[in-house]
Amino acid sequence: MEKLSNSIADNIKRIRWEISEAAIAAGRKPEEIRLMAVTKTQSAARVNEAIAAGVDLLGENKAQELCQKYEEYHKDHVDIHFIGHLQTNKVKQVVGKVSMVESVDSFKLAQEISKFSQKLGVTTDVLVQINIGEEETKSGVAPSQAEELIRQIATLPGIRVRGLMAIPPIWKSSSENEGYFARMHEILVDIRDKKIDNVNMEVLSMGMSEDFAVAIRHGSTLVRLGTAIFGSRSYT
Ligand SMILES: *Cc1c(COP(=O)(O)O)cnc(C)c1O
Repeated sequence: MEKLSNSIADNIKRIRWEISEAAIAAGRKPEEIRLMAVTKTQSAARVNEAIAAGVDLLGENKAQELCQKYEEYHKDHVDIHFIGHLQTNKVKQVVGKVSMVESVDSFKLAQEISKFSQKLGVTTDVLVQINIGEEETKSGVAPSQAEELIRQIATLPGIRVRGLMAIPPIWKSSSENEGYFARMHEILVDIRDKKIDNVNMEVLSMGMSEDFAVAIRHGSTLVRLGTAIFGSRSYT
């Protein structure tokens, strides 16, 4: 990946323009697509720079990292979503801090989110994560099991299903990922048409720095961008 030398604010301005262009090209309204800044490995100060530049949605991958940076975030007008793999024993660290958990892939995890949401007297929105590439090593439910899991979660108090999330296989070719995005949109519409009580299938979270324009073409309503906003990450 090339190194981005632009400022965070410049990057966000360019990305907003690219989101608009992709939406208009797909016959959609730019306001239908929400931009998330994925904060992993970024300091709270850099995340606050993104917030100052107008970002109002953060994506957190790890409970511990969220807890470390949470107090420092300038979060008065900001929503936080959890987007990483969430162990059931970490749920209590996350519920109450985030308005949505995008990575729910088991009934057990949903039950924990329900339990701690009720304790705090909040409702936590969730997305069901689909393992759209059916990869052995990836989180998410198989596409064929999504509806059943959603029907189970719909019976729990303090939690509400709002849609689907996916991380397609590592980018091989844009045409391949295009197929995964199209399939995700089909699954969303299919489940929406069943009109399950207490379920509202309005959010389709897909598209990252490399492929968000393609995801928007296939109905994404939430794009999750890290590198495009902050530049390349250095992992430790
Ligand atoms: C890291 C991450 C992203 C953002 O990836 P970039 O390629 O840096 O935009 C999006 N979604 C999830 C779940 C991630 O872990």
